Order: sequence, then structure tokens, then C-alpha cells
Amino acid sequence: MGNKYIYIYPTLSMIGSMCILRNMEASLTARDRVGIQDFVLLDTYTSESAFLDNLRKRFHENLIYTYIGTLLVSVNPYKELDIYSKKQMDTYMGVNFFELPPHIYALADNVFRSMQSEFNNHFILISGESGAGKTEASKKILQFYAVSCPSTKLLNNVRDRLLLSNPVLEAFGNAKTLKNDNSSRFGKYMDIQFDHQGGAVGGHILSYLLEKSRVVHQNHGERNFHIFYQLVEGGEEDLLRWLGLERNCQRYRYLVQGDCAKVRSINDKSDWNTVQKALSVIEFGESDIEHLFGIIASVLHLGNIKFEADVSPKQTADNQEEIWCYMCFAFVVQLLGIPTQVLQQGLTHRKIEAKTEEVFSPFSVDHAVYARDALAKAIYGRTFNWLVNKINESLVNKDSSRKTVIGLLDIYGFEVFNVNSFEQFCINYCNEKLQQLFIQLTLKSEQEEYEMEGIEWEPVPFFNNKIICDLVEEKHRGIISLLDEECLRPGEATDLTFLEKMEEKISGHPHFVTHKLADQKTRKTLERGDFRLLHYAGEVTYCVVGFLDKNNDLLTSFNNLHNYYKQTTDTYISVTPQVVTQFKSSLVSLTEILMSKEPWYVRCIKPNEAKQPGRFDDVLVRHQMKYLGLMEHLRVRRAGFAYRRKYEIFLQRYKPLCPETWPNWKGTAAEGVQCLIKHLGYKPNEYKMGRTKIFIRHPSTLFATEDAFQV
Ligand code: ATP
Ligand code: MG
Repeated sequence: MGNKYIYIYPTLSMIGSMCILRNMEASLTARDRVGIQDFVLLDTYTSESAFLDNLRKRFHENLIYTYIGTLLVSVNPYKELDIYSKKQMDTYMGVNFFELPPHIYALADNVFRSMQSEFNNHFILISGESGAGKTEASKKILQFYAVSCPSTKLLNNVRDRLLLSNPVLEAFGNAKTLKNDNSSRFGKYMDIQFDHQGGAVGGHILSYLLEKSRVVHQNHGERNFHIFYQLVEGGEEDLLRWLGLERNCQRYRYLVQGDCAKVRSINDKSDWNTVQKALSVIEFGESDIEHLFGIIASVLHLGNIKFEADVSPKQTADNQEEIWCYMCFAFVVQLLGIPTQVLQQGLTHRKIEAKTEEVFSPFSVDHAVYARDALAKAIYGRTFNWLVNKINESLVNKDSSRKTVIGLLDIYGFEVFNVNSFEQFCINYCNEKLQQLFIQLTLKSEQEEYEMEGIEWEPVPFFNNKIICDLVEEKHRGIISLLDEECLRPGEATDLTFLEKMEEKISGHPHFVTHKLADQKTRKTLERGDFRLLHYAGEVTYCVVGFLDKNNDLLTSFNNLHNYYKQTTDTYISVTPQVVTQFKSSLVSLTEILMSKEPWYVRCIKPNEAKQPGRFDDVLVRHQMKYLGLMEHLRVRRAGFAYRRKYEIFLQRYKPLCPETWPNWKGTAAEGVQCLIKHLGYKPNEYKMGRTKIFIRHPSTLFATEDAFQV
């Protein structure tokens, strides 16, 4: 874990600027009106209500950003604010963190300058629930770097590609949901690589758990991924003709299930143009683009294939609808380049391998529909992965000199719906892992540093959610292992046997509840097919139906199509099938990536469910404050010492203030600091001497020292 402690006021040069903050905060009237811009300075800092009041007060003044030390809290204003102009960027560029009102640009600038001065790697974790503003925040950070970093023609290329990867990935990975008209349906981690002069020279994107089920099913009021509607609405006539598509979303089953193909806040046609331009900048060749949209169109056609009781597509069409269905089938064959026979049989028959021959047994209609949807999901999922790889190729930095990195993590927040399934289980598990990381990088390491330095202090209690991470991921005993085991027993295992297995193996776990023990553990009953996890952020009841199928790569159930895909030379869709524990291992490697970097946090808050400006729902915000761990974070920052520095560095900075230490101190640095602070009149309760560092409790002590220094 190295020396990752909380940098409350990270660089010495910031101290001077804190005087300005102190003066601003001293003005009581201003404080009453606009609240306090750093929660660390709140008088009643342990009170949740005071925290909430401050956030609300600022929100109503359009002050959406507030600090907890260097952590940035952001409340979605749900309206355009005039705070993201080039002028604003210039204002924040190179200015000390606390000197100006809190802003996402201040954080971006501070991370950048810390990276440059310390020449190490950093990451910014942006978290919050759906619609809280994570993706917008990550875009603002990227835009800030695009404007503030040194530029040359070559660097501008990289910069443009980094910026333009956003509309492309959003087109393919975002969708309108009930919570957010532009909801990211995948997790995203993006590394921006900088050379030693601070120029952005490359990047790399990792994507997590795309919600593939959306391709074939959308709830009422929700849409499929944007790109489908963009293609149908915006695609050029020639292109649509070639793809066999009509300019009418209503014609495609996969586009109309949510009954809201048109959304007021979205202009699919102009978004199509944006994506086209972006694709050309990211060096997608004409044939890549043709192939890409061939696949997208084939998914739409696939969705229109119907099956009848004799389970093979009929050979003759006797009405308009059937003709349409046949045409769709023909276009899938053509666009995907799968032989008619293979596709037809793959969608309607199971292949049973006997000793010497292959036997095909027909599916029921339901099963055939299921096979069709599985194929559509698999094709889309792989295309998305291919797209990410392709973007990454265009961002590769060919220069081998040492680079530093700023990582941006925009990942789904904790989710609770009326019915929670495998997807929520994965997403909430991901949030447990990130909370664990947060605990390790900040709460725990802060306390460990005090211990290491031999500093006495009162530990701040916090709930360590490791117990829940273990419950999910422990080898042999964790829920994922049990699920994997069941997935290895095809034909025998069902979702219910998986539930029984959990009951047998982990029902004693304090964070796991099934219907048998529901009353006792949570005083709430539970349906037979459900299980409940007591997450760090609250209870979630999961419906076990579909866990096995979703955890398995669905395509493997249709082994003849699966085999075809394994053999196909089509690089767009022939990637190895995803495996059940892939998500777990990708999270493990994400954790490793992040553990080796300095953490920064943006916590996004959604002020109301109605997506409306000016509305601040106390209950909703309070709940988010809780599971975003804001109060815990504040308590640790306040309970501890606002500032700490190695003796050598502290002495170097302030030795001119004391005749005995200036110009050269002969003893050890610790003795020099002791002598210095005695001269400055530090009181015993204001500081502590650690093994290698001095710890100062309140910023005001340092303000005074810095003032003396300025004189
Ligand atoms: P999800 O988890 O669903 O992807 P998210 O946290 O990424 O959600 P965003 O897409 O960033 O949420 O934000 C949702 C919407 O809120 C945006 O489309 C925009 O309308 C509005 N919004 C978010 N942040 C801001 C902001 N800083 N200024 C103005 N509007 C904002
Ligand atoms: Mg998002």
C-alpha cells in the first residue's frame, strides 16, 4: 500500500492559498447563504443534518461542488450551469486547490500537478448512483486535460481520439433507462498517459460487464442501446438499403419493447453524425465501419425472426409479415456471413454428438426464441469488445519513454430495484470491492499511518465490508464459487439447486439471508426463490431466477452455433466466449491497477428522482451520503491531523523562521523541527511528533506559520 495516506493539504505551496479560504470562510453572512465549501471546516462536523444542510444550501445557490478535504462531492444540478467555459478552465489552471471555489477543474488540475511534481500515477474514482453525474464528471475532467495539457500536432491527435472515444462508446454502451436518458450500461476505466512534459501521449480503456440483456429486452420506458436508433434514424439512404433496414424503429422488435423509441432529450440523427465523425478520427476504415454496421443491422434483423410450432422457419411465405420475417433471416445470413443451413439449424435444433454421428433434436418455439436472443446478445457483446480494442489500438503510445498515468473510473453505482437479478448482484459486488478499496486506501491506511508513526489518536470506527466481499468471492465457499459449481452440472443443476446449495453452505453467514431465516435475521420475510444480501450500503433481495443461465455464457448452450463461432475467421465476432468468473477476475485486476496509484475521489449525488433542476430531496440525498461513506470520510479527516510532512521537508521549508535553524541545522531533522516549532510557539495539543513526520492537527496552526513566513 506504500505511503498512500490522505493528503489533506497535499503540497506546501497550497498553504498560502488556505489563508484565502480562511478569510472567505470567516465571512459569516456569506457562510450562511452559500454554506461552507469544505466540510472539514464545518463546526458540527459529526452531524449528518449539518452536512445535509450545507449541501442543500449550496445546491440552491447553484454551488454543486463541495470538498471534504481533497474529496469532491458533486450534486447533479440537472441544468446547464455556466461554469465549464474555457475561461473557467483558464481560471483553475495551475491555481492552488483551495484558492478558488470547489470545482471539478480544481480537482483535475490538482491531480495533474501532483502527478507532475511527484512523477507518479494517480486515479480518480467517480462514484454515485445512476443519474448522479458520473459520466458528465469524467467528461469534464477529460475536457479539462484536453485544453490544459501542452499541445503539439501529434498530441492533438491523441487528445482528439481520447475525447472522441466518448461519443462512440456512449452510442454503443449507453441507453435510456427510467433513471437516466443517457445511462452507461457498462463500467469504464480509462488511463490517460502523459509524457514528462505533461502532454497526453496515449490512453487505454477497460470496459466492464456490458448489460447485454438490453439488446433483446427493455423494460417499459427504456430503450435499447443508442446506436440502433441512431442507425435507423440517421443512417444514409444507401447504407440502410445495403443493410436491408427501413427508416422506422417501429419495424424492429428489439427497438420497441420499452415503447419509447423517441426520446425528447435525444436527437438520434445528429448523434449519428457525431459518431460518424468520431469513428473517422479514431481511424476506423471504411470497411471496418461497414462491417460494424452490418453486425448492428444483423442484430435488428435477428430480432424479427419468428418461429412456428414446427420449429423450423417455413420455406414459403404467405403473407406480408412472413415475407418480412424471411427477408430479415436472409439479411442475417448475408450480413453475418453464416451459411443459411448453419443459422437455421443453430436457431432451431440442438446438436447431440453421438459416437459416430451428429443428431439434431428440434427446439420448442420458446427455446428457439431463446437461442435467437442468445445469439443477438453474444454478437453485440463481442462487437462491443472489438470496438473497445479498436479504440485502444488508436490510443497506443508508440514512444517507450517513461510515462505517468491518470486513470478515470466511471463505474455503476449500487443498485436496488423492485426485482434484482444477476446483473444487480454483479454491480453491487463491484461496489463492495470499490468500498473495500476505499477503506484500504483511505480509512484504513490513514489509521495505519498513525500507528506506524507511533501517533496516539482515537480510532474512528468504520464498518469494514471485507466480510461481504469474502461472502461473495471466497474460493470454494463464496457465492460465485457455488454458482460456478452449479454451472458445471448442466442438466442437473437449476437456479433452485443453486439456492439450496447456498442455504446449505452459507446460511450461517451474518450477511446472507434466505427465506428460512429471513424473519430472524432481518425481520422481513422472503419469497422461496429469493435470497438477500446485507450489503454495506443496505439490504438487497435477489431473485435467483436466471442466475445460472446468465452466469453461463448463453451461447455455449447452443453448441452448434457456438462451435461455428469458434471456427469463424470473422475477427469481429470470433473472440473466445466469456467465462463465468471473468467479471470477478477483471475486478481483481482492476483493484490491482488502482492499488498501485494515488487515489482521488469524486462522489456524485442525485438530488431527486424526477431529473429536475432545483429539487433537493433530503431523504434521497441522506441515503446516498450514507452509502457513499461521506460522514465516515469526514470523521477520519477531522479526527486526525490535517497536515503531515516529513521532518526534512518541513524543516527545509520553515527553517528561515528561526535563527537557530537558519541557514543550516546541524542536528537531526526531527530535532530541528522541534527547535523550530518551539520558537514558533506551537502548543502541545496542536501537533504530534511521529517517527518520521510532524503531524499538525488544525490547518489554522499552519496558516499562522505560513503567515509568519510570508512576512
Ligand atoms: P449512469 O450510472 O446511469 O451512467 P451517471 O452517473 O453517469 O449515470 P450522467 O449520465 O453523468 O449520470 O448524468 C445524467 C444526466 O444528468 C446528464 O445527462 C445531464 O443531463 C445531467 N447532469 C449530470 N451532471 C451534470 C452537470 N455537471 N451539469 C449539468 N447537468 C448534469
Ligand atoms: Mg454514466
